[in-house]
Order: sequence, then structure tokens, then C-alpha cells
Amino acid sequence: MVEVFNPSTEEPLTKLSLATKEEIDLTVSKAKEAFQSWSETPVHQRVRYLMTYQQLLKDHIDEIVEVLCLDTGKTKEDAKGEVWRGIEVVEFSLSAPSLLMGETVKSVASQIECLSYKCPIGVCLGITPFNFPAMVPLWMFPIALAAGNTFILKPSEQDPLTPNILAKLLKRAGIPDGVFNIIHGRADEVNYLLENPDIKAVSFVGSSKVGKHIYKKSSENFKRVQVLAGAKNHLVIMPDANKEKALNALTASSCGAAGQRCMAISVGVLVGNANQWVDELKEKMKSLKAGKDYGPVISMASKQRIQKLIDGAEKEGAKIVLDGRDNNNKGFFVGPTLIDDVKVDMEIYQEEVFGPVLILLKVDTLTEAIKLINNSPYGNGTSIFTGQGAAASLFKHQIEVGQVGINVPIPVPLPFFSFTGWKQSFFGDCHAYGKQAFHFYTETKTITEKWFSESDTNEMNMTIKLE
Ligand code: NAD
Repeated sequence: MVEVFNPSTEEPLTKLSLATKEEIDLTVSKAKEAFQSWSETPVHQRVRYLMTYQQLLKDHIDEIVEVLCLDTGKTKEDAKGEVWRGIEVVEFSLSAPSLLMGETVKSVASQIECLSYKCPIGVCLGITPFNFPAMVPLWMFPIALAAGNTFILKPSEQDPLTPNILAKLLKRAGIPDGVFNIIHGRADEVNYLLENPDIKAVSFVGSSKVGKHIYKKSSENFKRVQVLAGAKNHLVIMPDANKEKALNALTASSCGAAGQRCMAISVGVLVGNANQWVDELKEKMKSLKAGKDYGPVISMASKQRIQKLIDGAEKEGAKIVLDGRDNNNKGFFVGPTLIDDVKVDMEIYQEEVFGPVLILLKVDTLTEAIKLINNSPYGNGTSIFTGQGAAASLFKHQIEVGQVGINVPIPVPLPFFSFTGWKQSFFGDCHAYGKQAFHFYTETKTITEKWFSESDTNEMNMTIKLE
């Protein structure tokens, strides 16, 4: 049993039972059995279940948001945004009939044709983090199911109520038994699942430390794997940027969702005279209201870890400009925190903090800023605020990060693109959602065929039964 808390009140919310080995074995075998008929269901019919599902998600959005707020402590607006971003992936999955088309040419040799199909691969597993209990599962299973696979979701044990609602609505959409399944668990249950040979593909979103383990273990067990992992995202402010817009972006993207977004900005890089804007930034961050502009972090353990990292930064000589450590609010709140004079060898720069903590580094030139970011082991997202096309152009071409914003703080791509983190923010080949997800969840079968003319056919064979 795992006790689940409401992060806003610190009160117990529910007790979660972890799946036993027998329950896991049974779930995988049911998903494998369901694959036989689901994979043979014509794609436009599979998609109709998802059409009903996206309507049900829209009809029940208030109920989902309410549970999501209890589960995570998110503000209502933030929770609603999360569910909408998930619904958009369901909408994208409805393009499956076109995106699952294979290839062919008229002929490859005399009377010989060659064509390819995109075939589903079997039972797929999704392992998801606490910070987006609706959106991240929805990045995965609608596309996997549309492609003809069956799916097992292992959501975070820290906020299990939201994924349970997603499952309930999918059932209501009429999805056949065994096609979508949930296993609740932690490390042991995940590791047991990864050893099951009937699971063919693994999608993981979570921290880099766990992600590396998942990547290795899935590969050792000969599974296809995609791992979306941790981040440390930098936002560069040039001295010619629109100051008001740049500082608002830095404030919202570092403290929104209490900084618990893999695309949150956690490092501000101030170029040249932009270093004179720290006091104004502090005032903007100070004006944020707990419960309105940002929620609590997920747990007491997380709050204490963040406080310890801020303590460490202070001991290492960084300047705490705005201190969110002493927060008297009930709930696992950490207040907006601004730390100046940070050096790249400090722990606060090296570690992903995952809280409403913004650290500042100062450089003289854009080239220095680019070098700094390219030296980071992570490559999820980055942004630049500037008024100069030439600066933006240099940045977008030279930066070694997979998702780049120009005068846009959190450049999360819409679902018809893919979520393209780089370096230690992603391990694998095909990224999440977009066309790449249809590659990930399918295997290509290439057929070369030749048919003989009637006179060549042995008439005796015409009576052979195929089944
Ligand atoms: P986490 O790595 O602790 O947990 C993720 C999942 O792995 C959970 O389901 C958890 O139960 C399971 N797990 C934990 N330890 C395990 C172990 N030893 N073996 C097997 N499974 C294990 O991550 P979290 O704290 O829930 O989420 C926050 C992290 O997720 C942050 O690092 C954030 O950057 C990252 N994240 C990344 C993206 C992205 O797109 N790159 C998106 C969202 C979150």
C-alpha cells in the first residue's frame, strides 16, 4: 500500500494497492490476447472509439480537472491546460488511417510489385511521472491504440486518481476488454513488467536517473524503448529584448506549476546590460500568489529536497535574492525563489531542482550564452528573448537543444509535431507523439509479390483450403 496525499492540504487522499506479480502476469496475458482481435480491427473502426473518447474527455473535463487538482495541487487553470494538451493528442491520433499508410510503387520489376504495411507491434507499456498525470499518459496510449497495439499504463504512484479517470472514460467509450489496462506500482512492479517477454515496447517519461535504468533494462530484454527524461532549461535574455515581456516570461515559466514541468525554465542567462534587470525580476516573482499563480510541490520529500538545494547554493556562495524556503502555507508549498551569482559547478546548476526556483547566470555575449547551454548535459528546451533577427538566427542554428523558443518561453510542440528533447533529456530513436510516435508503435512489413497468368495456374491447387 502507498499512502497518497493531497499536496495542497497535506491530508491523506487515498491508499493505493500495488499490483501483485499474479495480477501483472494476468494483465499482460489479457493484453496479449486482446491484441489478436484489436490489431485486426480496421483502423477507421479503432479510431471511432478514440473519437468517442475525445468527446467524453471534453464532456467530463470539469470532473477530470477537479481530481487532477486534488491529486497534484495544481491550480485549476493549470490543470485545465494540461487536460486540453492531452485531448489534442487524442485528436491527433484520429489521423491514424492516413499516418498508418505504407508505401508502394507501380512495379519494381516485370510483373513484380513491392509494398509495405505498418503493423502494430503487440503489448506496449507506458511508465509515467507525477507531474502530468493526465497529459503524459495521453501522449502515449491514444497513438499506440490507434496503431493497433494494446497498452498497459503504469502511472506515477504519487497521483493515481487522474489516470484512473482516464481509464474509466476509455471504458465508457466502449474500448474492448484487455485493450487498455492500468497496473499500479513502483520500481519493483516496473522491473517485473520489463522482464515480461510479451511486452514489446516501452515508453517512459520521468527523471534521467530512472530513465537510464529503464532504457538499459528494456534493451537488455530486447524491447523497443523511448525514454523522455530530465531537464535544465535555459532562457537567454538579450539586452535588446522587450524587457516587460521577457521578465514576465521568465517569471511564469520558472514558477508556473511550481516549476514542476520538464519544460520549465530553471536558468536565466542574462546577456550584457540585461544583468541590470534582476531587481525588477525579483518584484515580479514576489508578486505571485500561492494557490492562485502556483501550487504546492508534490510531496514533503520533494519540498525538503528543494529547500536543501537552496541551502546548498547559499553555502556555495550564490546570492538568495528571493527566498521561498520559509513558507507558512499549509501544504507542500515552496515560494518563488530567485538565486543570483550562480556558477556552473554549483550543485544548484548541476541538479534538476523541479521546484519554483530560478537561478541566474550572467555572460557578456550571445556566443558565450550558446556555449554555456551547449555544455549542459540536458537538451530538452531553451528560449531566447531578443529584438534582433540576427541574434535569433544565430541562436536557432547553433544551439544544441531539441526544442527552441524565440520570444516564446515554453516551446512545447503541438501534437502533430513531436516532443524532441536531445542529449540526456531523451534516450531512443523515435520521439513522443507526432508522426514519430506512429513509427515507434509500428513495425514495417515489406511484401514483394508476383502473380502468374491464368495458363500457369495448376487447376488442382484451386481447391486447396487455407484454413
Ligand atoms: P521518476 O523518474 O521518479 O518516476 C517516473 C516513473 O518511474 C514513475 O512511474 C515511477 O513509479 C517509476 N520509477 C521510479 N523509480 C523507479 C525505479 N527505480 N525503477 C523503475 N521505475 C521507477 O520521475 P517523477 O519524479 O515522477 O517525475 C519528474 C521527472 O520527470 C523530472 O525529472 C522531469 O524532468 C521528468 N519529466 C520529463 C518529461 C519529458 O518530456 N522529458 C516530461 C515530464 C516529466
